[in-house]
Amino acid sequence: MVIKITANSIENSWFELQQIDKWVYAIRERLDLIEPRFLTKFANSYLIVGKSKAALIDTGIGIHSMKKVVEPLVKNKTILVFNTHHHFDHIGNNYEWSKVYVHRFDLKRVALPEKLDFLETAKGPYAHELLKKGGKTVPADEHYPLIGGELFELGEIDLRIIHTPGHTPGSICVLTSRGHLIAGDTIHNGIVYLPPKEFLPSYAKSLNDLLTNFIQEQDLIVLGGHESTIITNQEVERLNQIIQELQKRIPEEKHEYDTFLNAYVLNQPPFKFVLPK
Ligand SMILES: [Zn+2]
Ligand SMILES: [Zn+2]
Repeated sequence: MVIKITANSIENSWFELQQIDKWVYAIRERLDLIEPRFLTKFANSYLIVGKSKAALIDTGIGIHSMKKVVEPLVKNKTILVFNTHHHFDHIGNNYEWSKVYVHRFDLKRVALPEKLDFLETAKGPYAHELLKKGGKTVPADEHYPLIGGELFELGEIDLRIIHTPGHTPGSICVLTSRGHLIAGDTIHNGIVYLPPKEFLPSYAKSLNDLLTNFIQEQDLIVLGGHESTIITNQEVERLNQIIQELQKRIPEEKHEYDTFLNAYVLNQPPFKFVLPK
């Protein structure tokens, strides 16, 4: 059962904290309050607390201190910080930590400040607050490149990095020894931002491999990077089925053009897909 933790500070009223189980917390933020036209309500980061160390998987949007939310939960344990991929809503608080692990294919985009152009005309009530912070991503001091296959021991729970290219070239998922798959934007529900057409086959392969080698084999709790935290196996199977079809053929019908996203949106319930032009 997921437990919601009540807010008791500015940070905690911006972040919605959910305890998934003994080891894992979801730290959620409202992306629609920054820019509703992204069509996404929640951005989810995850904290895994082991006996001797903790791991933060993604650092959120960067509007309020995530460190202030994380530190009371991990006490004095060392925190290892990971990014599932380079997108701004997953790396926003990197600057609060000195070292970040990221796949080598996404490392450059994480290590250099990136201007958030959309912020100047963003329609969300909190966009100006993020703009006040400089309107750019702020990197950590150091970045450690991952290649996939690495193991990290946290005490009572271990992590394994799985390289799942597709959503971005350096997207990773994090598998725990206690049966969680933290999937970043490789698997989530709601609106799914697809890569350019030529990368759809690698996304399709990553999804199919995750499903057959891990999710169906081990009955994992799949935790998504947006919207609901826990994704059911049926949802993962449906997503995989749609992506397998899309990599072969993108249907001409059922498209609507979204001027803000500058992309076509394909409605395939319960998902919607953003297809870059
Ligand atoms: Zn993303
Ligand atoms: Zn995302």
